[in-house]
Amino acid sequence: MGKPSGFLEYQRKEGSVIPPLERIKDFREFHKMLPEKEQRDQGARCMDCGVPFCQSGSMIAGMASGCPVHNLVPEMNDLVYRGLWEQAYVRLSAAHCLPEFTSRVCPALCEAACTCGLHGEPVSTKENERQVIEYAFRHNLVESDPPKVRTGKTVAIVGSGPAGLAAALLLGRRGHLVTVYERSDRPGGLLRYGIPNMKLDKRVIDRRVELMEKSGIRFVCGVDVGKDISGKELLAKYDRVILAGGASQPRDLDVPGRDAKGVWFAVDFLSQVTKRLSDGVFQDASGDLNVKGKKVLVIGGGDTGNDCVGTAIRLGASAVSQLEMMPEPPLTRLESNPWPEWPRVKKTDYGQEEAAAVFGKDPRLYQTTVSEFKKDRKGNLRAAVVVDLQAQKDEQTGRLKMVPVPGSEKEIPVDLVLIAAGFLGSQRYLTDAFGVKLTPRTNIETLPGSYATSVDRVFTAGDIHRGQSLVVWAICEGEAAARAVDESLMGYSNL
Ligand SMILES: Cc1cc2nc3c(=O)[nH]c(=O)nc-3n(C[C@H](O)[C@H](O)[C@H](O)COP(=O)(O)OP(=O)(O)OC[C@H]3O[C@@H](n4cnc5c(N)ncnc54)[C@H](O)[C@@H]3O)c2cc1C
Repeated sequence: MGKPSGFLEYQRKEGSVIPPLERIKDFREFHKMLPEKEQRDQGARCMDCGVPFCQSGSMIAGMASGCPVHNLVPEMNDLVYRGLWEQAYVRLSAAHCLPEFTSRVCPALCEAACTCGLHGEPVSTKENERQVIEYAFRHNLVESDPPKVRTGKTVAIVGSGPAGLAAALLLGRRGHLVTVYERSDRPGGLLRYGIPNMKLDKRVIDRRVELMEKSGIRFVCGVDVGKDISGKELLAKYDRVILAGGASQPRDLDVPGRDAKGVWFAVDFLSQVTKRLSDGVFQDASGDLNVKGKKVLVIGGGDTGNDCVGTAIRLGASAVSQLEMMPEPPLTRLESNPWPEWPRVKKTDYGQEEAAAVFGKDPRLYQTTVSEFKKDRKGNLRAAVVVDLQAQKDEQTGRLKMVPVPGSEKEIPVDLVLIAAGFLGSQRYLTDAFGVKLTPRTNIETLPGSYATSVDRVFTAGDIHRGQSLVVWAICEGEAAARAVDESLMGYSNL
């Protein structure tokens, strides 16, 4: 806890953000941190609540409540309040090996479950965490930390997203020789080529990878496992393999005109944009990435869709709309969704705020989907037919499903469509390369709470295992898989 009466004395205060019309001029991060003194007051707001749900990471009503990696939240907040930044870093890193990422991009499950939030504003734990880890980096407290003793055991990790990075960090620290294989040109997974720069500056990934390399972890980029190197070869070369290849199979739209030029999957588009940035400034608006003056339609109302909205605005789109199939959520919790459950309420994210500032209205159209794309004679996209949806009970399952409202179709002019409709699971060539068993959703199957696959010496972690999720879950899984691998190699684990 912080100061027992702190939550009564101090209001929640967050670092400032650059206003929308200013920040859309580049792709740089726009959240500023509070001065250290003010952050200490925020730490003071952590009350002596007795049952800190913030760190429980338990499933309530089918949704996670509190931090999945069980960050020692009240203890860290207390040390923030006392201004003991180095000790706060030690506490933070006791449970969480990559807080620089979650303190930027996490939806903050800890804050949604904070006791202070029951009747007022929750403690700003995410920003406290960011202040702590950035202090640690500034003061060289985050070190490369090479192990004093090597075990002589070798581990290959396929995929360098947050799951792969977390697993590599822990196994490397333990003394195993770790090699991370990554098919992209640079490590980071969706941290690098998914989440846009304004949410996560890529230098944050580079400085961590640099430290990991110094500690002896090897990154081999540009190697596609299952194509450039077989599963058999990896198993012959390494004692253990962890598959952390993500859930990169995007959900497509099965509608007429889908093959029109100008229809992209969101991650393909976002990653191409990221590749053309230098110091947060877009360098080359040629070819397909020339969005200036174009009308953009984003399909999918989630976080990825929001990232597409913010990106399209930065590239100079003349109009941006975002389709969401589900009804507009309430502004505050319903009685059926009490604290500390994850709040199912309307969230207006940075991209939507920016759209409102630039175009004068929220870009989201609820209960709407697309039923057709129209092309010109050259096959270029020229319009989309959108249709209203209504909820209807499925006769077989009894569940509600969204169905088109007959006669509600209307054609809207569009030059670029970004499909951000989620992901379906793993990519087959990777899982086939090892012959691991899959769930019906094509995630890698393990026993509950286990990270061992159906194939001896092959483990798994992250989205490829749990399905499309969050950075914090990927880190949690990477840490847990590292412990499982360590135990299988050494007979016990102290990770
Ligand atoms: C646009 C977007 C925005 C998001 N924003 C947020 C957010 O704000 N907050 C949040 O918490 N979560 C967010 N997420 C979700 C989050 O990024 C993922 O849940 C998380 O990155 C999953 O981590 P992972 O390590 O399991 O997989 P990934 O990050 O997908 O990494 C997997 C890596 O494996 C590599 N790989 C795959 N197959 C092979 C192979 N055969 N050989 C070699 N390498 C291979 C891939 O190239 C990739 O680099 C977002 C997702 C997207 C798409």
